[in-house]
Amino acid sequence: MSTTDSNSVAEDETDDGESVDSFRARARLWLAENMPLLPDGATNQLLAREDESGQRARRLQRLLFDGGFAGISFPVPYGGQGLSLHHQKAFTQESLPHQMPTVFNVPTLSILAPTLLDFGTEEQKVRHIPAMLSGDELWVQFLSEPSGGSDLAGLITRATRDGDVFVLNGSKIWSSGAFRSDYSLCLARTDWQVPKHRGLTMFILKIHQPGIEVRQIKMVNGTGEFCQEFFDDVPIPATDVVGEVNNGWTVASRLLFHERNATGGGSPYVSGVATAAAGQDGQPSDLLDLARETGRTADPRVRQLVAEARVNDRVQSQLVERVTTGIRTGAFPLPAGAIPSLFAATNTERHFDIGLEIAGAGAGAWIDDDADRWGETYLLRQGLSLGGGSNEMQRNIISERVLGMPREYAADRDKPFDEVRHN
Ligand SMILES: Cc1cc2nc3c(=O)[nH]c(=O)nc-3n(C[C@H](O)[C@H](O)[C@H](O)COP(=O)(O)OP(=O)(O)OC[C@H]3O[C@@H](n4cnc5c(N)ncnc54)[C@H](O)[C@@H]3O)c2cc1C
Repeated sequence: MSTTDSNSVAEDETDDGESVDSFRARARLWLAENMPLLPDGATNQLLAREDESGQRARRLQRLLFDGGFAGISFPVPYGGQGLSLHHQKAFTQESLPHQMPTVFNVPTLSILAPTLLDFGTEEQKVRHIPAMLSGDELWVQFLSEPSGGSDLAGLITRATRDGDVFVLNGSKIWSSGAFRSDYSLCLARTDWQVPKHRGLTMFILKIHQPGIEVRQIKMVNGTGEFCQEFFDDVPIPATDVVGEVNNGWTVASRLLFHERNATGGGSPYVSGVATAAAGQDGQPSDLLDLARETGRTADPRVRQLVAEARVNDRVQSQLVERVTTGIRTGAFPLPAGAIPSLFAATNTERHFDIGLEIAGAGAGAWIDDDADRWGETYLLRQGLSLGGGSNEMQRNIISERVLGMPREYAADRDKPFDEVRHN
């Protein structure tokens, strides 16, 4: 493992000599002069949907990079600012009124860049992390397969060694935004004669090249964000192995830790969105705005629902703070990240249920006002309860690897993978 550890983001508030207050003032001024404000009623999430190709996000990310505000907590040698979590939080708070390249947050900057920092060679880090921070490279994760995503270690896409390259064959699915991305971290099976967790390798994979077909999948809300990829004899240079050959499970486990951090709202690498890690309570005002727009602020039931959502967001914020601090200080093991991740998923579902109830019949009307947005968003309310590991899998992790309860029975444990029934 490389010596740069993404868990070592500085806590110190003045580690480059600039106080958080001075940094905040400088950031506010720079943002006002350089980053366009969000139009009335728009959010970065809504703007991202209109920017399917990601070109707008790439331009905005480049602006941040040129202005010295990309990668606040990333190490300086890889193009970051090398500042503390407190600087990142201050920047995020200041950035909220502005248009921001939020497409870069997940998975590029919050999941895949930290995984490369943890396990990449120096050459890999220098090659890719500055390119991510400057908006030149969007990344995606190639983990799930048509045969199943929860049993990630049971995947069957194969990479067979042939001299200086590995030859990739198989298929990945549910890859968010693969069509507009440049690279992926791709987990593949490199040894079939050992138990499933011990025969996997993680690769850096260039997406748009001969032998890879990317197909968009039309989703229930009309977008084509999900993709399926087909690999037909794709050569991957052996220098693009991340970590060690057949030790890909270690890399994948760390990737999933960063993913739980991102989905739980605890990532130190995210700018432009209100998260618990940024000292913001999730989405504090959108339900109140909705109650106002639908003229229901005096309705006791609506008031109760808005208050419930507010309390849930507060609890999530405190939970993130407690668990991320516990992991940083070593009081909690890394799998404890499943706790805020599970809470964020269930809270998100509740948030959209409440939105639908307040919006009422207008939510189904598909007309051009704010209420109808809630009907459409409701269709994706369970996304967080699957992406990054389903709620059931998060519960398994918490019970087995945080609370030390007995492990779930697995017929394939310790058996060579080629003796196990799969697919
Ligand atoms: C919004 C979103 C974004 C995503 N982005 C990506 C991406 O970019 N890249 C990528 O690779 N994947 C991505 N995924 C896929 C995601 O990782 C998988 O959907 C997830 O891992 C579950 O796998 P599956 O859909 O194959 O369900 P399955 O694994 O088939 O599971 C089906 C059901 O069975 C339950 N189940 C399975 N095993 C167990 C068990 N042992 N104990 C209890 N219950 C169990 C699950 O909880 C689930 O409810 C994304 C998914 C979503 C929703």
